[in-house]
Amino acid sequence: RTVYVNGDYLPEEDAKISVFDRGFLFADGVYEVTSVLGGKLIDFEGHAVRLERSLAELDMGMPMTRDALLEIHRRLVAENRIEDGMVYLQVTRGAADRDFAYPPEGTAQTVVLFTQSKPGLADSPAARTGIRVATVPDLRWDRRDIKTVQLLYPSMGKMAAKAKGCDDAWMVEDGAITEGTSNNAYIVKDGVIVTRQLGPEILHGITRAAVLRFAREAQMKVEERAFTIEEAQAADEAFVTSATTFVTPVVEIDGVAVGKGAPGPVAQRLREIYLEESRKAGI
Ligand code: PLP
Repeated sequence: RTVYVNGDYLPEEDAKISVFDRGFLFADGVYEVTSVLGGKLIDFEGHAVRLERSLAELDMGMPMTRDALLEIHRRLVAENRIEDGMVYLQVTRGAADRDFAYPPEGTAQTVVLFTQSKPGLADSPAARTGIRVATVPDLRWDRRDIKTVQLLYPSMGKMAAKAKGCDDAWMVEDGAITEGTSNNAYIVKDGVIVTRQLGPEILHGITRAAVLRFAREAQMKVEERAFTIEEAQAADEAFVTSATTFVTPVVEIDGVAVGKGAPGPVAQRLREIYLEESRKAGI
């Protein structure tokens, strides 16, 4: 597999980054994951815009233009012959002597991109059966709107959910669901789609933005507000969205079946619309 590291395209075995990289030592970096369907990048623009925002929130600039980033994405997809899968991009503040203070202005950022092939990405078993989630307290920091590489807590949450026989965790703060470990969370009650409002408490999902747009265009009602575990368990449907899972139904929350305990019509319809529109708009 060919990967990109700081200007070079290399076989993955030959790619190197410094042990002093601040991404490694301080989780001082941000990332994006863009999915690939039929060899096309899905919502590249949205991911590039969020990358720029995440970097700016951490006093970093874009390492290169959006067009240059797109070029790297495309070259990796082509060289690695990715039909369905994803492109991972990470930008860190670079390598410097270990110090909590940021390194001097002009320190080169570290830019890494790689691909993962996932044949049949859009036809996952989880989409057909739905997933089961367990709730865990949301113990992450207060700036979840920045897509940093500090992913240990979500990783622990997912492991806690798996230990309970579930597929993923939904995180809870002050009695309300914030989001999944790597996805945004939704419920549907009496035809109304409810998902948490944007703010520093959640990642501003690129898939979330697209799905809410499609839902409104299809005259579905959307409410952006917090909801509780009990409200979710009593809902007609629940689902999650993310770049690599699109729209995936949630059929059980903490052992309680949601609705009929099977993927619901709203989630299924939104998944179809999202996949169809995204494939059309892919670049
Ligand atoms: N929330 C969290 C915590 C995430 O890590 C992710 C994706 O990785 C999402 C939501 C979904 O965001 P997107 O739709 O941009 O993939």
